Amino acid sequence: MGELKLQPYHHYLIRAKWIIPILSKPILDGAIEIKNKKIVKVGKFKEIHREAVFVKFLDFGETVILPALVNAHTHLELSGLRSKLSPFYGDFISWVRNVIKLKQEMSLVEIRESAKLVLYHLWREGVGIIGDVGNTAITLDLLCNSPFYGYFFQEVISFKGGYNLKEIQFKAPSSNFRITYSAHAPYSVSPLLLQAIKSYNKKRNKLFCIHCAESLEEIVFLKKGEGPLQELLKERAQWNENFVPPGVSPIKYLDSLKLLDEYTLLIHAVHVDEEDLKILEKTKPKICICLGSNLFIGVGIPKIKEFLKAGLDICIGTDSLASNDKISVWEEMKTISTYCPDISPEEILKMATLNGAKILGFDKMGAIFPGYYPNILVLEIKDNLSEKPGDILRTLINAEKEIKFRFYV
Ligand SMILES: [Zn+2]
Repeated sequence: MGELKLQPYHHYLIRAKWIIPILSKPILDGAIEIKNKKIVKVGKFKEIHREAVFVKFLDFGETVILPALVNAHTHLELSGLRSKLSPFYGDFISWVRNVIKLKQEMSLVEIRESAKLVLYHLWREGVGIIGDVGNTAITLDLLCNSPFYGYFFQEVISFKGGYNLKEIQFKAPSSNFRITYSAHAPYSVSPLLLQAIKSYNKKRNKLFCIHCAESLEEIVFLKKGEGPLQELLKERAQWNENFVPPGVSPIKYLDSLKLLDEYTLLIHAVHVDEEDLKILEKTKPKICICLGSNLFIGVGIPKIKEFLKAGLDICIGTDSLASNDKISVWEEMKTISTYCPDISPEEILKMATLNGAKILGFDKMGAIFPGYYPNILVLEIKDNLSEKPGDILRTLINAEKEIKFRFYV
């Protein structure tokens, strides 16, 4: 894979058989003009090239150009758990127990080196923006010194509630990363602390991120305050005797705590009923789908079509190698298209690019459009390149492909 970090003096006209702008229909025999680290024109090659003067022309021939991908939810510090866990077929608690145990066994060097490897892989597959969650910040300097953009969420786990949300400071002025606190889940963070984390983020215009409605055990715990999650909290000396179970679903619980709005990102949202959907439709939080992870643990499949009908913005995450065989946004797209055949390839690609970028706060990324940053991928598809726009998007998701080149800023 070739790559080029664009500089202000670069002025290029690049051509490919297909340009996928995301914000508009695919363009056959398209071209993009890049100047001063911005996309200035996108359109048909025969229309754009006449006006482009003093420009370096790069013809990528039989390729497809699209924006860099967004992996909106990872836990890089769990990368060392690759292949140490096999699918769990619905046993969420065993999975949690295994992750806790194996995580404790990992050395700091192992955590860092395995995260480095996953980052390298993510770059090679075309990811440009990452939403990473960590408990230790071991991976934070790797991220801040990488070509990626994104968010690092310092995850809070404390059901007892005693946690000091001190101002996060990290000296990396040129970093492309935003840093803030996130809450692990409704069953592992006390209600008051959940509200404190939301308020911390609201004051700083940051995204509030939380795993939510992932397993049936979570539903039982919030409805009755008992079950295997309560046992686990007791074992870990995290059970709070004063906790009064809200007696409602995770979505209703978060709504009752006033945590749902468009600056909240719900990870998973697998167990969502009709009433929950109405709440989501009204409060409009963002949703991050991690279907590969849901299938690996066996917790169920999120209602993506219903989320779309409710007008919710959806992005895609891989979650970690503790709950997925692969960390690949392409694989996630393929899985969504297999399990949810009524979701169009346009919609899936939008989730993996533009939506992820917008949700993580990168407004001029995730699409090929004048004024946007040229973080773009040139892909070689190992299949016949159709000349029909509908077919090309399906092929792009499902066919074997290789990144030939990437431009980035
Ligand atoms: Zn996660």
